[in-house]
Amino acid sequence: MKSLAKLKAEPGIWMTDSEKPEMGPNDLLIKIKKTAICGTDIHIYNWDEWSQKTIPVPMVVGHEYAGEVVGIGQEVRGFNIGDRVSGEGHITCGHCRNCRAGRRHLCNNTFGVGVDRAGSFAEYLVIPAYNAFKLPDEVSDELAAIFDPFGNAVHTALSFDLVGEDVLITGAGPIGIMAAAVAKHVGARHVVITDINEYRLDLARKMGATRAVNVSKENLKDVMNDLGMTEGFDVGLEMSGVPMAFRDMLENMNNGGKIAMLGIPGQDMAIDWSKVIFKGLTIKGIYGREMFETWYKMASLIQSGLDLSPIITHHFPIDDFQQGFDAMLSGNSGKVILHWD
Ligand code: NAD
Ligand code: ZN
Repeated sequence: MKSLAKLKAEPGIWMTDSEKPEMGPNDLLIKIKKTAICGTDIHIYNWDEWSQKTIPVPMVVGHEYAGEVVGIGQEVRGFNIGDRVSGEGHITCGHCRNCRAGRRHLCNNTFGVGVDRAGSFAEYLVIPAYNAFKLPDEVSDELAAIFDPFGNAVHTALSFDLVGEDVLITGAGPIGIMAAAVAKHVGARHVVITDINEYRLDLARKMGATRAVNVSKENLKDVMNDLGMTEGFDVGLEMSGVPMAFRDMLENMNNGGKIAMLGIPGQDMAIDWSKVIFKGLTIKGIYGREMFETWYKMASLIQSGLDLSPIITHHFPIDDFQQGFDAMLSGNSGKVILHWD
């Protein structure tokens, strides 16, 4: 079958012919229709330090997708041929303490689709049926293809009560922008998002942010004054992984504020801990998506009218995958969809 794979231990990604994956008794075989390019795929494309340590070569990558069930393992219940699905990319063990307690996103033995095992940049994908999520009609294939990063946004944004709160989001990447849209949709008061990339800040404005602030030109304190905010932000969502951005957040939180951290810093990050202590802040790390509470919330948010369509800025047929990767690499993009159908 046709697939996009990491074939060589060097920057790039290649179209190749690979074996159709084999289905076990608890698996589904999915015919891929749409895929999206994740930041992780860009790390793998660039062949950075993390990828060199993590990704075996050759490897079919990709983990953001929508497709159709075309094969069902003999032990599987609850799915039919033709079901439209996306899927959770974290494959969990089911027997560790966290899994057994229903906290599958905290499994100690997690494997990643398109990272540790064959991914979705291919005509066919095999995953455990447990990981598949059936799509309601309101969710298009394009939108379903970005449910994985949308799930990161939803998991982070809904970690704390946002109703009537002032929310600061650092990092207007696709995930930060979707989090801003979610925060507005569920009833936050002011949603302020920061970045240093004008294209992305514009997109954040289109998707409902109260203010999208270029921190290389404008000061958060001035923005807060403009908005009549005298005390600081109630909730912070860190979505950049950039130390400067996190320090800025700590500086501008209200006493008793709550912070959810999704962004992954490249290395150790020093902060002024006295800010955390004297402000009485709560900081929560966020990994992946809750299985499957986050997925139900995502579908329901779309069904209740959340419009995510502006975040998809580019579409390419799969044979033009290089243009898709170039759009992502430029930084002037939201989500990029590659069409397999
Ligand atoms: P992204 O790299 O597209 O977005 C990060 C944004 O931060 C960029 O737009 C960049 O311009 C911006 N930025 C740079 N300097 C800044 C500054 N000083 N202030 C504010 N913003 C600044 O990434 P993404 O795909 O949207 O993901 C967001 C983050 O979440 C990344 O760090 C990613 O690695 C991480 N992530 C974590 C998980 C998890 O499970 N914890 C899952 C997916 C992604
Ligand atoms: Zn487990």
